[in-house]
Amino acid sequence: MAPEPAKLQILHYPAPVLRRKAEPVGAVDESVRAVAARMLELMREAEGVGLAAPQVGLPWRLFVANSGEEGEPDRVYVNPRILEYAGDLVPHEEGCLSLPGIRAQVRRPERITLVATDLEGETFTLQSDGLLARVWQHEYDHLDGILILDRMSPIDRLATRRAVKELMASAGS
Ligand SMILES: [Zn+2]
Repeated sequence: MAPEPAKLQILHYPAPVLRRKAEPVGAVDESVRAVAARMLELMREAEGVGLAAPQVGLPWRLFVANSGEEGEPDRVYVNPRILEYAGDLVPHEEGCLSLPGIRAQVRRPERITLVATDLEGETFTLQSDGLLARVWQHEYDHLDGILILDRMSPIDRLATRRAVKELMASAGS
């Protein structure tokens, strides 16, 4: 099933695909490249720093990211794997394009080493101890059906309860 990239849109919680464990991408072909290009476009339009395939309705292990840090290019990560977590657990405010209106402090390890495949089918390894490391972990979570709702503190859960309820209500209407 080749999706039509132009029709892809960012889905909001509680879309069921956001809770599924995504499947590895097979060969990196034209349809994967077209989906990735559309995802980068949607990410930029929404002024986000990352977008995972399940957020556009595709249960694929693929995400795109650009942390906006100096000189950071748009990158596509196919079948990413986190090789190493290092450093302290650091709290930082996160939002999610699938959870409009919701922001929460999330504690994550500071330094990450990640390996993934690019759109040429080549494997690459990157390390970050900046915002990018955080974006990788957030987007990687999406591939396992994990959302910031699962990682926020009880206080933030209480503070965002109304916004979450509103999202669920608007999905049901
Ligand atoms: Zn997200």
